[in-house]
Amino acid sequence: TGKEEVHEFKTETKRLLNIVANSLYSEKEASDAGWESIFVRELISNAADALEKLRHAQSMEHMDADKPLEIRISLDQDKRQFVIQDSGIGMTLEELNENLGTIARSGSKSFLEKLEKDGGSGSRENIIGQFGVGFYSTFMVGDHIKVYTRSAKPGSKGYCWTTDGQGSYTVAEAKNVAVGTKIVIELREDSKSYASQLEIDSIIKKYSNFVGFPIYLNGTEVNTVEPLWTKSKGEVTEEQHKNFYRFIANAWDDPQYTMHFKTDAPISISSVLYVPERHMEMLGERQEPGVSLYSRKVLIQPKSKGLLPDYLRFVKGVVDSEDIPLNVSRELLQDNILSRLRMVMTSRVLKWLDGEAKKNPKKYNDFFLDFGQFIKEGACTDAMHKRDIAKLLRFESSTTKSGDLTSLEDYNGRKLDNQESIYYLLTPKRRYAEESPYTEMFKKKGVELLYLYDTVDEFVVNHLSEFQGIKLVAADSPEAAADPLLQQDRPSAAEDGGAALLSEDDAKALAKWMETTLGTDAVKQVDVSRRLDKFPAIVLEHESPAMRKMMQMMQGSAK
Ligand code: ADP
Ligand code: MG
Repeated sequence: TGKEEVHEFKTETKRLLNIVANSLYSEKEASDAGWESIFVRELISNAADALEKLRHAQSMEHMDADKPLEIRISLDQDKRQFVIQDSGIGMTLEELNENLGTIARSGSKSFLEKLEKDGGSGSRENIIGQFGVGFYSTFMVGDHIKVYTRSAKPGSKGYCWTTDGQGSYTVAEAKNVAVGTKIVIELREDSKSYASQLEIDSIIKKYSNFVGFPIYLNGTEVNTVEPLWTKSKGEVTEEQHKNFYRFIANAWDDPQYTMHFKTDAPISISSVLYVPERHMEMLGERQEPGVSLYSRKVLIQPKSKGLLPDYLRFVKGVVDSEDIPLNVSRELLQDNILSRLRMVMTSRVLKWLDGEAKKNPKKYNDFFLDFGQFIKEGACTDAMHKRDIAKLLRFESSTTKSGDLTSLEDYNGRKLDNQESIYYLLTPKRRYAEESPYTEMFKKKGVELLYLYDTVDEFVVNHLSEFQGIKLVAADSPEAAADPLLQQDRPSAAEDGGAALLSEDDAKALAKWMETTLGTDAVKQVDVSRRLDKFPAIVLEHESPAMRKMMQMMQGSAK
């Protein structure tokens, strides 16, 4: 070995190390989740970065790789050691001092600022978890760290960087160092579980399974699930999708829809998404979001909450965007890149479902019978994508059979020439609708009527209010009653000589009499209508079924 140099850590690095090392010590008992295991993910992600950089350099210089690009983790329980080695780009002496001696990461800086602001209150573990402290996270589990590294730049020497995290580190030239980086952590007594193969295996499978380089754990490859989304569409078989879906969704069914998609604009996205065969919300449990966010194959947010709107929580899969910097991972919510990603992904998912519906309407019909509630939730909550969501809605109608659904688009296609509205009826059952006085004129005139059975449907139509410029109108509204299309074509009293019908004056007098007899508690107004056939009278502008239900509930709880 050559001469050894001792360096002081910068003041802020010292402070950070101190906090990181002590946070675990003091809060170990309180925290049961093993959150400090994130150090594994941080080291693997650094190794993957270094390999990615080398691969890039090789491709730029048209060099052949002389060594396989891989990550090797070896554990030694007796020595309480965790060792991770990559065959990546490595570091020169300058890079070593620069990268591991100072806080370069924006995450670490924000972490310190946040701690400063909070005056040390609040849980440090939370803050570390929120920001990530990259390489320094190793000090949560180790009290003595050695880094061997040699840069891939031709003619570079090997170095050993070492510290006990107490304020200074030493660097010395070292012999027999392979190109790449090897990090040796002497685990503290209370972190010895991180020398256990079982433990590390499960951590890797959870967080780093799709890293695009092989990871060997004590000689055995562990990340055998290939990152499907990085491949091109034609390369992936249905069987592979099935297995991948089962793996990421932790499920045993098959996906009924699969979307594999890549784009570079407006942001780079590689994604595979699935709609499961079934969902479990009918059992009463609300589902968690099912899409995880990756950046360059490294997991950034498992089951990300912000990536898709809540009503799309039934979608499972992976979104990988190279535009998301790894080191600001946990500050994403403040970052507009996530909202851009969300915009693109949301409209993509809605268009995908619409495409599937057009490809196979029967299949989509069955999907909607199970998953329609999510789409309806979207129609009520996502004003921005209202148009796309409206295309996905399906209802029974007077022209469909029971269980068969129609889209608003198809309804419009069947509309009569002079029909200016889309008509619907809120009704608990198909049979009621078919026998209802509100529908007889629709039947007679051949005006199609959508049957809305769900309580939520009322909110859906209220939120939409129109579809492709055509108003949604309730069959039992005064507006429907006034539609010339829905009037009786029976001759007026004057025309048939007064034989069967009341004169207009007599009819008005009768209406007035009914109004006063029923009283203002029962009715607001009684009008003469020429719209009814077999039924003598109907009620208009009554409270909606949903309103009635709410009123009943309120009265019930008031008792
Ligand atoms: P970040 O990865 O966000 O930059 P880290 O604290 O994880 O922050 O790492 C700091 C820097 O140290 C990295 O940017 C990189 O330059 C260097 N580094 C860390 N691990 C490796 C490695 N295995 N190989 C090469 N360089 C590394
Ligand atoms: Mg890192």
